[in-house]
Amino acid sequence: MILVARSSQSVFSKSSPFLFRGPARVPRRFLGIPSAFLLDDYLPRYQLLTSVDSAKKRSHAYAHLRECNLCPRKCGVNRYETTGMCMIGAETAKVNVIAPHRGEEPCIQGFHGSGSVFFSGCNLRCVFCQNHDISHKRNGFDLTPEELAEWYIKLQQIGNVHNINLVTPEHVVPQVALSILTARDMGLRVPIIYNTSSFDSLESLKLLDGLVDIYLADFKVWNSSTSKRLLKAEDYAPTAMESIKEMHRQVGDLSFTSDGIAKRGVLLRHLVMPGKEDEGKEIMRWLGENLSKDLYVHIMEQYHPDAHVGKKRRVTRRVRKGNGGEDTREETRYGEINRAVRDEELSSVRDAAVKAGLWRFCEPNENNSAFHL
Ligand code: SF4
Repeated sequence: MILVARSSQSVFSKSSPFLFRGPARVPRRFLGIPSAFLLDDYLPRYQLLTSVDSAKKRSHAYAHLRECNLCPRKCGVNRYETTGMCMIGAETAKVNVIAPHRGEEPCIQGFHGSGSVFFSGCNLRCVFCQNHDISHKRNGFDLTPEELAEWYIKLQQIGNVHNINLVTPEHVVPQVALSILTARDMGLRVPIIYNTSSFDSLESLKLLDGLVDIYLADFKVWNSSTSKRLLKAEDYAPTAMESIKEMHRQVGDLSFTSDGIAKRGVLLRHLVMPGKEDEGKEIMRWLGENLSKDLYVHIMEQYHPDAHVGKKRRVTRRVRKGNGGEDTREETRYGEINRAVRDEELSSVRDAAVKAGLWRFCEPNENNSAFHL
């Protein structure tokens, strides 16, 4: 059933019949959260780690950096001496933006925003990347795990954020693990979100087990030919399936406290792509059959051509006529996805999700004033 308001403004709307007047900063609301997904209280998982577990995690983090197989690229390099495909070393992570962020799902951004840390670089090369200024370029500040931890504390204390949201962290998991352990000792108490493409290795997810509360996981495309062309990773779908299963094993279905803020579980995102609705349908079928019918799913409609898509390039070909020569033409790159998604493509993926038995969707409810939980 119902309801989380679309933004902090509408949370305070006098016209909503579902609002109760509450404490000054965080209003109490009638949310209608199914009891199976309602938590009385919540302690982040990193708070439950013993000192022995923490020490083991620290030691594994350093070991992984010395022979990096932390993502399916499996470069096997010593990141203290060189870099692999992600181009990021061992001592620091490169960070582009740190700020409270209100561009996430209502149950993630809540009233005060999600404490987002956007890491530079990525282990995928999506040609349509909606975040390519950050992910495809190595701009930003080099921060040690200790400096990252200090930022988490600032986000918590000054930003009053609901969580720490690590965006595109797949290639810096050891640094992230160390930063969470340090921040815990400095007084961090909000949940950790791992915001991932799902192109993770099981070794990496094992290191994160006990440190992450919410996996905000993409499942992008289904066919290997599509992932090879558009993500530059032929093995994307089998990797994502294995990774998402492991994430779900660790934290289960998405659960909330009574204020409507997500605290633990998997939130699965699928960005519907133009002309790829059949792949979206396969993904929904797989999720319903293999993961959980109670999985919380966000079918996203905001695709727009970006990064390399739609860019012009000159192509020169040799021609075999007369005494030979060259034919130069201008081509549009990735023309097949150089448009917005059509309504019928979106609806067909949504219909497939319902047919697969999924029922927990992040979408506005019928009167468009709130979101389903
Ligand atoms: S995290 Fe970077 S260095 Fe490690 S395997 Fe992946 S791309 Fe290679």
